Amino acid sequence: MIIYIKKLIENLKERIEEEVYDISFLDDKDAKKIKLNLEISFVPENLIFVSGNIIYFLEKICEKCLEKFEYVKKVDFNREYEIGKNQLELDLRNDIREELWLNIPFLYKCSNDCKGLCSFCGKNLNKEYCNCIEIYNKEFDKAKKEKNAFKDVLKEYFLNKDKK
Ligand SMILES: [Zn+2]
Ligand SMILES: [Zn+2]
Repeated sequence: MIIYIKKLIENLKERIEEEVYDISFLDDKDAKKIKLNLEISFVPENLIFVSGNIIYFLEKICEKCLEKFEYVKKVDFNREYEIGKNQLELDLRNDIREELWLNIPFLYKCSNDCKGLCSFCGKNLNKEYCNCIEIYNKEFDKAKKEKNAFKDVLKEYFLNKDKK
């Protein structure tokens, strides 16, 4: 993740294809590793292009079912750097961290169709079945019917009252 400029100027191109486990610079305690797939090019007089992608591997807790899962995010990484005359190296770590932060999802979900926890009994609906929702809907319908029946009684009462 640190590019040695002198070497790059000699070779003009360099590939970084590696898995990195020393990633405390990401400031994310859940990060397990990253996979770099980058091409570095030197363009005279003083430009460096970095292009490719980075895959981030994080161990997260699903915010719907509360289970641990591996969150994998592939992000395109395309940057251009202007280097100074006496600059010896170019450190990509800050930008690699920034790219992770820019891509934080709205919700960490173990899968797109995670069913989450039942809000009545708390069971993990990915693993277990419960019929709380059915019972709830039935009770709700019953209550609605009772309420309507009560309304009808009232209506009749007032209608008959007016007749008298
Ligand atoms: Zn989940
Ligand atoms: Zn339930």
